[in-house]
Parts: sequence; structure tokens; C-alpha cells
Amino acid sequence: RASWISRLKAGLSKTSSNLTTLFVGARIDDDLYDELESALLVSDAGVEATHYLLEALKKKVKDEKLTEASQVKTALRALLIDLLKPLQKPMVLGRHQPLVMMIAGVNGAGKTTTIGKLAKHLQAHQQSVLLAAGDTFRAAAREQLAIWGERNNVTVISQQSGDPAAVAFDAVQSARARRTDVVMIDTAGRLPTQLHLMEELKKVRRVVGKGMESAPHERLLVIDGNTGQNALAQVKAFDDALQLTGLIVTKLDGTAKGGVLAAIAKTRPVPVYFIGVGEKIEDLQPFDAEEFVDALLS
Ligand code: GDP
Repeated sequence: RASWISRLKAGLSKTSSNLTTLFVGARIDDDLYDELESALLVSDAGVEATHYLLEALKKKVKDEKLTEASQVKTALRALLIDLLKPLQKPMVLGRHQPLVMMIAGVNGAGKTTTIGKLAKHLQAHQQSVLLAAGDTFRAAAREQLAIWGERNNVTVISQQSGDPAAVAFDAVQSARARRTDVVMIDTAGRLPTQLHLMEELKKVRRVVGKGMESAPHERLLVIDGNTGQNALAQVKAFDDALQLTGLIVTKLDGTAKGGVLAAIAKTRPVPVYFIGVGEKIEDLQPFDAEEFVDALLS
């Protein structure tokens, strides 16, 4: 536990070090607010969240008559926690049999890695897992997935030639027959600008819903925490297409700037179920607003 927090801290502090040092020995004046504004923008918090945080902070400083920069930092910590807390929501298992999840994202976001981590996490919670290989574009990917599934005790449903919606539909039927707890439907990486592929995602959702009413229960988006405002644009586009139920933010151990979560909270508050803090299978952690803010500010 401690080791992943330190990795998260190390990752965030590479780019947000001014957020951590800014308050040391500072006076509460316009220069401090200007520096804070730049630091928040550099951390990828975006214009809207930055503006909101600055105004709320100034008001707090005035209302509470704060005189020390360290108090301002404490006030900022509280505001950030309040902002991010609504994103903290655990993924609830066992509501449906099977619980059907659909997982989307752009290429390179960390989708494949995350599916492996998630399968492991689910198994650790006594859930049996079936994976639908909905990335029907790459034959090699399909083969690799089959090998991975065998090794990890995960049944993988795939089809030679394929319509991803049909693969997903089959997987749900198969999971019902086998009484599997969770179906994870992988989808091919796609960009929000590839409109036909975004339509394909909606079709997967529709067809799955024909096989099991109310499914897919979870519609998850994997985003790379390093991509800042681009990740925010992805959240908006995929949410418009699928009405997302959750996000997984990867690579927060790298050079991620962290502030993108503030931008998401302010503009499109989709819950963050998990954060990725490394390449290894165990490097998936539930999102905790307080832990995250402390890593960002310390
Ligand atoms: P996909 O194209 O979305 O399926 O992405 P992959 O799962 O293949 O991941 C792309 C790269 O990101 C790989 O090198 C992964 O090891 C790496 N990666 C994924 N998640 C994390 C993470 O949380 N931390 C770090 N450091 N690397 C990650």
C-alpha cells in the first residue's frame, strides 16, 4: 500500500512540484494567487476548475480571515477534496448475474493492461470472470488474449471474423449459461473523432441489452492520466455515446499531472472507480480523494 502511494506521489510531484512548494514562506497576495493559477493550469486542471478553485479559495481566505500561507494551503486541500470526493465511488459487485461491463478507450490508454488488472481484482473478490474479445480488428491480439485467459483462469469468448456486437452478445449468453459472475467486454481502441467507430460502440451496447435487459451495467472508459485536456475531451465524447458509469485513470505513476481529475470533477463528473499506478497486475487501486489530494500537494 505504502509503495503505490509513494509511486503516485513521485509521479505527480514531477510536474506539480510548484503546487507543493508554492506556499512555503509565501505572503498572501496577488503574486501567490497568480502562481497558484499557473500551477493549477500546468497540472491540467483546466480553465473552469482553476477559476472555480481560485475564487473559492479567495473567499475562504477572506471569510476565515486566514493570515498564513500554510493555512491557505490547508484551505486549498479542503477545497480539492470537496471537489474530488463526488468522483470517489466504489464499483459495486454482485448486483446482477452476470454483471456486464463494457470497456472502451483510445489506443494506448492502457485498456488491455487494465482489463488484466481488473480480472485479477475481481477474482480476488471471489468473482468468476468471462472476457469477450471485442477487439475484432487484430487477430494477434485475439490469440494473445486466449493465452492470457488460459493462464489466468478467465474464459475468453472470441470470433474469427467479427462483429464486436455479436461477440459481446455471445459472451453474455455464455456467461448466463455458465453462471459466471462478471462479463468484461473489451472493445477496440478508437478515437472520439472516428464517428463510425463511436456508432459501433453504441451498437455493442444496444445488442448486449437485447441479450440481457439492463446490461451492460457498467460502461467504463480507460483514460491515460498523462494526456490532460485530451483525456477530458475523451470523457465527454465517450460519455455522450455511452452514458459512462465509471472511469479508470491510468499511468498516474508516470509524469501525470493529476489536475485532470479536477477538470473532470468540474465539467463531467463521471466516477473514478480505479487508478492505475504501475504496469504490474496489482497496480490498480480504488480512487480515494483524500489520498490523491495529499499526493498532489505533498
Ligand atoms: P491499450 O492500447 O489501451 O490496450 O494499452 P495497453 O494496455 O497496451 O498499455 C499501453 C502501455 O501503457 C503499456 O506499455 C502498459 O504497460 C502501460 N500502462 C498501462 N497502465 C499503466 C499504468 O498504470 N502505469 C504505467 N506506468 N504504465 C501503464
